[in-house]
Amino acid sequence: MKKKVTEEQKLEIRELYATGDWSQRQLAKKYGVSEGTINRCVKEVEKPIVTTPERFDQKWCEDENSCWEWQGTKDRYGYGRFYLNGKKEKAHRVAYQLHKEDIPVGQMVRHTCDNRACVNPEHLELGTAEQNTQDKVERYRQPWPFPAVCYLEMKFFDEIGVSLDQIAQHFQIRKETLENRLDDMNKTTDDPTKDKIFYYQKRAIHELKQSSGN
Ligand SMILES: [Zn+2]
Repeated sequence: MKKKVTEEQKLEIRELYATGDWSQRQLAKKYGVSEGTINRCVKEVEKPIVTTPERFDQKWCEDENSCWEWQGTKDRYGYGRFYLNGKKEKAHRVAYQLHKEDIPVGQMVRHTCDNRACVNPEHLELGTAEQNTQDKVERYRQPWPFPAVCYLEMKFFDEIGVSLDQIAQHFQIRKETLENRLDDMNKTTDDPTKDKIFYYQKRAIHELKQSSGN
């Protein structure tokens, strides 16, 4: 029986072949198809003469935060994906290895910019899994510019029809900031008890209790 490759496999085969690490014969074996099938998949792909760093650098674009935003395929967690020596790797880890040093066993590469798709080596540092969790905890603890009750007030004013300009002026914030915050507060989920607004309410109650010493 002649085995065919799916469209998704076809893309993967092309991507692997373009790395230059795989021969057509090896790909045929990997996918359990004939070399002729592989040949048809890759015939549009020029055998690359580019080096790994060159191939890597074709896959990112710098954004306004100087993040090198990955343009290639990403995994389901939002990390860039890059084939290195025939193996699927996380792009930011590859960036670290290409620009800085090998990653010691047991260490992870963390983003200082909080952007998983970023591969700018200046935004990457080594760390442990515990440090990574600690970072997240600290970010969550960061105080908001206003007590939560103020945001609830802003939402209330918006709902009763006060203009955004007036609300922004009253709280002395930029209109864009206000709009972003209102959008955030209006976020809903499939489960209405988990809508974002409840988070603001809980936070407001928590802050109130703290300030009254309870
Ligand atoms: Zn970045």
